[in-house]
Amino acid sequence: MTAPLGAADRPLRIAVVGAGPAGLYAADSLLRRGDMSLSIDIFNRFPTPFGLVRDGVAPDHQSIKAVARIFDRVLADPRVRFFGNVTYGVELRRRDLKRLYHQIIYAVGAQADRRMSIPGEDLPNSLPASSFVGWYNGHPDYRDLPADLSCERAVVIGNGNVAMDVTRILVTSPDALAGTDIADHALEKLRHSRIREVVVLGRRGPVQASFTTPEVRELGKLEGVDVIVDPRDLRLDAVSESDAEEDRTAKGNLRILHDYAARTDHSAPRRITLRFLASPVEIVGADGRIAALRIEQNELVVDPNGALRSRGVGRFETIPTGLVLRSIGYRTVPIEGVPFDPATSTINNVAGQVVHPNTGEVLQGEYVVGWAKRGPTGLIGNNKPDSAATVDAMVADLPALQRLGDNHRDPSQVEALLRERGIDYVTYGDWRILDQHEVAAGRAQGRPRVKVTTVPEMMAVIREGR
Ligand code: NAP
Repeated sequence: MTAPLGAADRPLRIAVVGAGPAGLYAADSLLRRGDMSLSIDIFNRFPTPFGLVRDGVAPDHQSIKAVARIFDRVLADPRVRFFGNVTYGVELRRRDLKRLYHQIIYAVGAQADRRMSIPGEDLPNSLPASSFVGWYNGHPDYRDLPADLSCERAVVIGNGNVAMDVTRILVTSPDALAGTDIADHALEKLRHSRIREVVVLGRRGPVQASFTTPEVRELGKLEGVDVIVDPRDLRLDAVSESDAEEDRTAKGNLRILHDYAARTDHSAPRRITLRFLASPVEIVGADGRIAALRIEQNELVVDPNGALRSRGVGRFETIPTGLVLRSIGYRTVPIEGVPFDPATSTINNVAGQVVHPNTGEVLQGEYVVGWAKRGPTGLIGNNKPDSAATVDAMVADLPALQRLGDNHRDPSQVEALLRERGIDYVTYGDWRILDQHEVAAGRAQGRPRVKVTTVPEMMAVIREGR
């Protein structure tokens, strides 16, 4: 009789696609199942693991990056193998994973940006905030982002924490950033930046803003920076007022915003202006560059679901600017062979189990975690319970997978397949070579690390160190 999957003589073989927080928390949760014998292979497009912890968290928020220590322990576990520099859908396909593993977890995050669909959106220097974040964090895809910081005023559209991050980076003194792991190319450009004001535009009111209180408070502590709020923007309609009573974050945010509105000394060299109830309607160009942003004042209206939405009132204004950062949220893109729900921009799933969009039929042995599962919201730590819930579903499914054959599930087969395809995959040991190289370069400059920012350079460091 065949042993149950996960028994000592029949280890469960699991593939995780994506080495970001959601995938690594899922692996962590699996490793904690002391009653199961298993091995986990984690595939990642880049040679570097940790996803948004490396490429998303702002360089002046080093304490948030401490979670990488937990993730490092996961990768160092003898039951886990890291396969970096392997692109899912190109070098390794779904059918390979289905053959080689009993279960697959897609942890691919949300790689693309949402669109505003307004005229002028594609003018040069109208950039998704997600690309700008990748640029200052040394993400290889955005190494050469043509961000032009030669204008005096930038506008950031959106009221989330990413908007807070990019705003802070634009006005923080480069000397203060020099001690972080910000990418060298970004630091160099920020040193020559002429930006003196960042206008942050929320389409709804202050109560509906999705930034959190520590992040909006932090703006007021930046050296050489005034934060300006028009007290009239803080007058609330009845619904917002009662919502604010019940929402701790909104209440905390309002307290901070009132404090900013009461400040009258605006003599600092740089400023952040927080504006509410206004939507962009056109990015106005002149000579192929951004000259201004045209905005429309909004009012709040209750939609059929009882939520407050913004609605234009037909009053327009033009803000002169040369840089627009669109910080209106991330978007998951479909991946090879996996059902996708375009309405929610997520992998089609029910509680983490991938399901067929038309029939609702469960795709046995396929799961999703993180932003690809629930949409692009939540802090890094929110992934821990979310990934653990998917792992619970995976364990509950094991009896249904019992009949899967084990012929191709020898751990050496995937290595052979990747080698056969000529892929120079990066192991955990290889990553440690690159990690130590970056940390040593940082130590010499009193910084946490100096990032290597292109894949060929990363691979050169690894090959030399092997
Ligand atoms: P977000 O919190 O969803 O914020 C998106 C913002 O864009 C909202 O204010 C939204 O307004 C606005 N928006 C959407 N479409 C718009 C449009 N067409 N025109 C104008 N505004 C529009 O997303 P995020 O800032 O990308 O952050 C993603 C997640 O990462 C969040 O959970 C965030 O907390 C987290 N994060 C955390 C940190 C941190 O802890 N320091 C840092 C970065 C990110 P509406 O509300 O009106 O839709």
